[in-house]
Amino acid sequence: MAESVAAYVGLGSNLADPLRQLALALAALSALPDTTLQAQSPFYRSRPVGPQDQPDFINGAVELRTELPPLELLDHLQSIEARHGRERTRHWGPRTLDLDLLLYGQEVIDHPRLTTPHRELPNRDFALQPLLDLNPALHLPDGRALTDLRLQCPDNGLERLDPEPAKPFSRRLE
Ligand code: ADP
Ligand code: MG
Repeated sequence: MAESVAAYVGLGSNLADPLRQLALALAALSALPDTTLQAQSPFYRSRPVGPQDQPDFINGAVELRTELPPLELLDHLQSIEARHGRERTRHWGPRTLDLDLLLYGQEVIDHPRLTTPHRELPNRDFALQPLLDLNPALHLPDGRALTDLRLQCPDNGLERLDPEPAKPFSRRLE
């Protein structure tokens, strides 16, 4: 059996009912071959990077345990994006679904199709925060702790989307 690796994937969407896009993406990720979905982060609302005349993004991340080699995992992520009708009209423009391979174990990969850790990770609170929710001890292969990067990175107005608050009691004040 191939050795398995903890891989972290960032999810983002700002078109076509983003929460539904992320739910569909989670289902697709949990069905990947030779891979288990270990945990999913809370979702966040964030302001778009780049052009501001587009809807806010919803972001999250998942932890996978996978035996897929990194480029094969990327192939799967891109085919999930394509199935969701990802629009690539302009750089940093709106998109129905963006799946980024943020970390692949502690591997440093510099390939024309794949850079891990993801090049923009240190600059993106909407990627760092969900990763920290999944695992507060995460660090980059160069030793930098994600908690430290989170403190230094630009502010995209991150807002955590809490699940609907439970209402176990309906109490009437008399
Ligand atoms: P971003 O997610 O940074 O806003 P895009 O999703 O438009 O940008 O970038 C997609 C391109 O980035 C693809 O061609 C893909 O091969 C390349 N790429 C390089 N490294 C990664 C990575 N770690 N995760 C996902 N795509 C990557
Ligand atoms: Mg991407």
